[in-house]
Amino acid sequence: MITPLMPVYNRIPVAFERGEGMYLFDTNGKKYLDFYSGIGVMCLGHSHPTLVKAITEQASKLWHTANTFEIPLGNRLAERLTAASFADTVFFTNSGAEAIECAIKMVRKHHYDRGNKGRYRMITMANAFHGRTLAGIAAAGQEKLTKGFEPLVDGFDVVPFGDIEAVKAAIKPETGGIMIEPVQGEGGIRLLDDAKMRELRAICDEHDLLLVFDEIQCGMGRTGKLFAHEWSGVKPDIVTAAKGIGGGFPLGACLATEHAALGMTVGTHGSTYGGNPLAMAVGNAVLDEMLAPGFLDRVVAMGDKLQARLGALQQRHSDMISEVRGRGLMAGIRLPDVATRDAVVDLINRGLVPAVAGDNVVRMLPPLIIEDSHLDEAMETYDQAFTDWKQNGVPKS
Ligand SMILES: *Cc1c(COP(=O)(O)O)cnc(C)c1O
Repeated sequence: MITPLMPVYNRIPVAFERGEGMYLFDTNGKKYLDFYSGIGVMCLGHSHPTLVKAITEQASKLWHTANTFEIPLGNRLAERLTAASFADTVFFTNSGAEAIECAIKMVRKHHYDRGNKGRYRMITMANAFHGRTLAGIAAAGQEKLTKGFEPLVDGFDVVPFGDIEAVKAAIKPETGGIMIEPVQGEGGIRLLDDAKMRELRAICDEHDLLLVFDEIQCGMGRTGKLFAHEWSGVKPDIVTAAKGIGGGFPLGACLATEHAALGMTVGTHGSTYGGNPLAMAVGNAVLDEMLAPGFLDRVVAMGDKLQARLGALQQRHSDMISEVRGRGLMAGIRLPDVATRDAVVDLINRGLVPAVAGDNVVRMLPPLIIEDSHLDEAMETYDQAFTDWKQNGVPKS
């Protein structure tokens, strides 16, 4: 019999009741160090006082008015995001998938309004993840996402991740843009190097294509810059954000240059909830912390330490860890010979919460407020786990 809650998730049998900073507490009162942040969402950790204050104050004032009316908090958040990034304009959504949808529609409308009606296709990357809408799964092109949901939305040409020659070969008269995650999250913490990022920009300039970066997982401070593409110096046309942007409140955004967004005029797009006062109050509070002097510098420093500590861990357990991946506080260790879900479940039982990613990777997205003591604690747990696994194998979950 089907469960009342639609059974689409393979859940780990732990229920958290409370969170405080870097820690989660389950319904039995057991304490866990959070290295997952609910898929990188809780960028300021749990129950951050700035966010708690912002949401409670706004909740007692005004939750929602619809986009029929002016929302000053939304104007302010858009001004702050554009001032801090490449973008000239922002559309707010409730999720990452909707930000992707906005980006895809924007690419099509951009070319349409410029008289290039046939240029509706986008080149996307294998092992990508762009959300669960029909367009998002077609863009990612992974069979595990699309199987049974055909016919797929037309308009995506998938090439191997970061394969510049394949990108060039895939360009057709109908191509309007290229979409890529600067660091693939679900796909296994795969980093596109800065040189390739610049090559993609050059290809887009040469062929009049829009360059879309999906920064829903790697953006909002995760790599130590507000957006991961900033490391390369490349200026994109469109960037999608979500996850960390709301610090736990469902919020997404599609950022664009004026040129990219030229077709997004009154009536062409919209949302009931997107950018409502409650979401905008929290979004502004997240930026209050993230854009405060020194915050991102601290993320860079802690990210370097995390990567270095994982490198040392790999040296001690090189028989099990084949690779350390990532940038900043977006990290992965590749365990080619064990079931990564079993490894993650065992780590959770030991009080450390990482996550599974593709390509046999154990993924880490700790809150950006992480301190040295948390790194020590996590490395001790990993060290003990790898030592035990070598002797007894990884327990089946
Ligand atoms: C999570 C994610 C999405 C989808 O976001 P939702 O909020 O789940 O719709 C899209 N792209 C990337 C890179 C993501 O990590």
